[in-house]
Order: sequence, then structure tokens, then C-alpha cells
Amino acid sequence: MFSYRHAFHAGNHADVLKHLVLIATVRHLMQKSGALTLIDTHAGAGIYRLDDQAAQTSGEALAGIARLQAALATDFKPNVAAAAVDQAQTAIDSEANILQDYLRLIAGFNRSAAPGAAWKVYPGSPLILHALMSEPERAAVHDRLRLFELHPTDWQALQAHVAQLGAGRQISMAREDGFVALKALLPPPAAAGGSRRALVLIDPSYEIKSDYAKVAAAVQDGLKRFVTGVYAVWYPIIARPEAHALPRRLKTLAQQAGRDWLHATLHIGVPPGGAPGLSASGMFVINPPHTLAPALRGALPDVVQALGRGRGQGYTVDAG
Ligand code: SAM
Repeated sequence: MFSYRHAFHAGNHADVLKHLVLIATVRHLMQKSGALTLIDTHAGAGIYRLDDQAAQTSGEALAGIARLQAALATDFKPNVAAAAVDQAQTAIDSEANILQDYLRLIAGFNRSAAPGAAWKVYPGSPLILHALMSEPERAAVHDRLRLFELHPTDWQALQAHVAQLGAGRQISMAREDGFVALKALLPPPAAAGGSRRALVLIDPSYEIKSDYAKVAAAVQDGLKRFVTGVYAVWYPIIARPEAHALPRRLKTLAQQAGRDWLHATLHIGVPPGGAPGLSASGMFVINPPHTLAPALRGALPDVVQALGRGRGQGYTVDAG
């Protein structure tokens, strides 16, 4: 326990898939005016430097967001990224735009980078969610963000990064087990007008095998407490029976609850001669936006083209 540090993995292909899906989903939810409760059960440190020792040692961001930036974001002007995000919002559900929207949001965290220079900062899910909540059209809405993180170092970093946002009571966080804490947060409080709306991101490190069963149990319990919530689960695709079983289990839970689901996977493949580390991961979303499957089918071929390394590269998008 606690050997996992997301700083080594920030901006890798798994973060690209996870955050692409997360941003597209939250943007869609934000097209309605009712306040949202956003829950990040496994928050990490909040934001990462891509030029620090951890990122440089692993080289994972170089094979992830850096390649995507080089392939697709060459004409971005980081100092106008915020305006570009606003523009992108007018048509965010179109297939090409979720990828551009994702890249513009990351560019917004790199406004001090020289034009064309490689991005040195990569936001984690907490700062991505905060950025989305902070867009001008959400200012009067009072969305809430709830964060949980257990690792002592990452918890300290998260506290410091969140403090810098000056978000006040919009963000609350605790050094608690996110699986346990989730129970008390569902159903979310009713917004003005009476509607209850929440998105739950469940993104453990799967350091211990029991995380797979805990994810399924958390989703099962969540659906019992709040069946209309949006549940987004990231998982690694690795040679482990629990990892293969998890998306099947989540699909069964969605079907038993009579809810729509979406399952997207990204495989960057294995280069000739092999490569260590993770080469594929998946995102499973229960109650996804109806626009998400076509949007991902439009975006993921470009991601595969930019990040693909060889044998087995590709993507899947299934929905039901
Ligand atoms: N969601 C983050 C993002 O997208 O930027 C990355 C999170 S990282 C994959 C998983 C994090 O969960 C690690 O920082 C780890 O310390 C933390 N963690 C592990 N078990 C936990 C638990 N039971 N409750 C809360 N946090 C936990």
C-alpha cells in the first residue's frame, strides 16, 4: 500500500483516455443549469509537473500527452487558451471537438509556455473538475467538488494545490478512504429547484487486488442510493482475472439497475522489442451522456494514431 504515486504516470495514455471521457461527460452535464456534485474518490495530488524527476524518470507523459500535443495541438496559442475553451463549448458534443476541448483545457494550464513549447504542467482530475466548474457560465450555479486522497504526500500536495485555487466551500476534501466516504455523499443534496445531480469518478491505483471488488461494491451501493448518478470508473487492462472481470461486472450492475452504460478502451500497443508498463486501459461510465459514444468514436482514432506504438494498438467503444 502507498507505493503508487500518480506523479510517475500523470499525462500518460491512461490519463488521456480518463480525462478525455471525464471532460466530455462533465461538459455535457453542465449544459443543464442545475448544480452538480462532483465526487473524486481517489484524487491524487491535483496537478503535476512534467519536468520533475518523477515524470522524467518514467517518461510516461512523453509517450502520452506530449505526443498528443505534438501531433494535434501544434497551432494552439496557450495564452488564448481560455478564449478557445469558450469557443469550443458551443459545439462540444460534436465528434471532433471533445479531443480539441481536452487539449485546450490542458493548454489552459500551460499559458506561460512559449508558443510551440512542450507543456510542463498536467492537471489531475481535481483541477480539471475545478476548471470546468469555474467557467463563466457556471459561476452562479454553485457546483460542489468533493475530494478524497489517502497517500500522506499526495494528500499534502493536494491540500496545497487546492488552497491556491481559493475556491472556498465549493471544494471540500478529506484524507479518507474514498470507497467508504462515498456512501455518505449519495444521494447528493438537492439543488435549488429540487434536482439532485452527481458525477462520481472512481479512479483507484489498483495497487491491491481488493480494489477491483471495492470498485464494483461502491458502484452497486451507489446505484442503490442514487440510481441516476453518473459513475465513471477507470481500470487498467492487464493480465489479471480481476481486471478482465471488472467491466463485465459493471455492465451487469448497470443492466440490473436498468441504466445505460458505455465502455471505452484505449490500447497503445507494444512496439517491436516490447515495452514495460501499462499498454491499455478502460473507462466504464454508467448513465453516460447519449453523445459520448459517437464523440469518442470520432476522437479515439486520432488518439491511437498519435500514441500508438505497434502490435495491438486500437480502441473500442461499446454502449448499451
Ligand atoms: N484521479 C486522479 C487523476 O485523474 O488525476 C489520479 C488518482 S491515482 C490513479 C489514485 C490515487 O488514489 C492515488 O493518489 C492513491 O494514493 C489514492 N488512494 C489509494 N487508495 C485510496 C483510497 N482507498 N481512498 C482514497 N484515495 C486512495
